[in-house]
Amino acid sequence: MQLTVAKDMESLQEALAGLAKAGKRIALVPTMGALHAGHVSLVKLAKEIVDEAVVTIFVNPKQFGPTEDYGRYPKSPEEDIKKLREAGAALVYVPSADDIYPPGFSTSISVGELGKILEGKSRPGHFDGVATVLTKLFLSILPHMAIFGEKDYQQLCVVQRLAVDLDLPIEIIGAPTMREVDGLAMSSRNVYLSVEERKIAPKLHEVLESVGKVIASRKVSVKSALDQGIAALGKGGFKVDYLELRQAETLAELRDFTPPARLLAAAWLGATRLIDNIVVE
Ligand code: AMP
Repeated sequence: MQLTVAKDMESLQEALAGLAKAGKRIALVPTMGALHAGHVSLVKLAKEIVDEAVVTIFVNPKQFGPTEDYGRYPKSPEEDIKKLREAGAALVYVPSADDIYPPGFSTSISVGELGKILEGKSRPGHFDGVATVLTKLFLSILPHMAIFGEKDYQQLCVVQRLAVDLDLPIEIIGAPTMREVDGLAMSSRNVYLSVEERKIAPKLHEVLESVGKVIASRKVSVKSALDQGIAALGKGGFKVDYLELRQAETLAELRDFTPPARLLAAAWLGATRLIDNIVVE
């Protein structure tokens, strides 16, 4: 199927009507653009589990804090379309900020406590912005499924909570994190890293893996394994925001290792904030 690029609500609805008429089941892959192989893996997964992938590209102002990188977030519109065409996406919706938030817009969706811990603590309001835009995209596209990367693990949990709480008839699916060969999780923000920082960056994943192994061995307390990890990251040149072991669904704190568990980290490397997470089993 040829890729349709919809730049406004009317052309989006026209293209969606075409897909519905053809009896296609669709999966939504929301993105902020500057696409890499991680995003492409979600589109490919969509094509495996349903008939067609519908992608959105929207840098959502509401999920950026006042001092964050909204104004300089990387953009590569032509390359994005090329990658989506190659991956076999059927439709990409690229709305403007005014389309999504016209003058007078004032509604906000909040997932409560789940959006206030970890990333939410460092980035107040971030998940309300995420939940608000996703609710709008879900309602205007009404996909059968929506696919999110485990790279943003808390976001995946937030969206799952949102879908359950609002009785959204959309199945939320998590997909594995795509990594560079040296283990660094792919991210649109990796382009911010200097050559020197890029060499250090894989250490975040390395430390997660080693701390995960120590926790799973149950030889030392969770706290002491985490403290060792924080110290290793600090020594490696990171400024650690958090390194925490959490219950995999509720993201409740885990003082003892009780599967299913997730180890999540955020750390600054110079002016760039990196996040990553792994399962601990
Ligand atoms: P973003 O454009 O950063 O908002 O990401 C859009 C979607 O792609 C989200 O569901 C992310 O979790 C997912 N994603 C981002 N990076 C990766 C990655 N390295 N592997 C898999 N999925 C990813």
